[in-house]
Amino acid sequence: MDEKKRKRHMTRSEFLGRVARVLSVFALGGTFAGLVRHQVAGGTVWQIDPTKCTQCGQCATHCVLDQSAVKCFHEFRMCGYCNLCTGFFEPQPPALNEGAENQICPVGAIQRRFVEDPYYEYRIDEDLCIGCGRCVKGCTLFGNGSLYLQVRHDVCKNCNECAIAAACPSDAFVRVPASKPYISRLGDRT
Ligand code: SF4
Ligand code: SF4
Ligand code: SF4
Repeated sequence: MDEKKRKRHMTRSEFLGRVARVLSVFALGGTFAGLVRHQVAGGTVWQIDPTKCTQCGQCATHCVLDQSAVKCFHEFRMCGYCNLCTGFFEPQPPALNEGAENQICPVGAIQRRFVEDPYYEYRIDEDLCIGCGRCVKGCTLFGNGSLYLQVRHDVCKNCNECAIAAACPSDAFVRVPASKPYISRLGDRT
């Protein structure tokens, strides 16, 4: 190979080597971008901002699960332990006792327990709760606002496009770090 041909050959080799290096950089870049996207998607989960939720009822009906992943939570630090709890009783209850006809919850998911006169404790049975928000609305409008809705992450599928988030009229669904997926009624995160 004469000198002219050798230079042309080297130039083509260098060119092909450069193309290969550029392609591998793009490939790596794509891989890293994919990893970052995956980490972002995997590092955050859906949650309800309790200050934005207006208890519209769609959390009970729009989840992809048969029974919604949204549950009622109780912030006991805010609760008045009221005898006449507006998160537990219908607005005009026939009687102030645990009869089903007196309760606001359609599935009997709120347990009322006498503590001492005149205080009662209210606990949510999450296995029964369907996330309808009726108790939350009652407590928010007329009580201390200690009941609130949250996505329960041991049942939520963390769908990329949460069907409830898409339907929520209040933009109350937000992405939060998976390491602290709950927002308390007082605003702290756990
Ligand atoms: S859809 Fe939005 S506003 Fe309605 S109950 Fe759920 S979080 Fe609240
Ligand atoms: S992310 Fe999916 S499973 Fe979780 S609350 Fe939304 S719709 Fe339900
Ligand atoms: S009223 Fe609705 S949100 Fe409240 S505990 Fe019952 S099912 Fe859950």
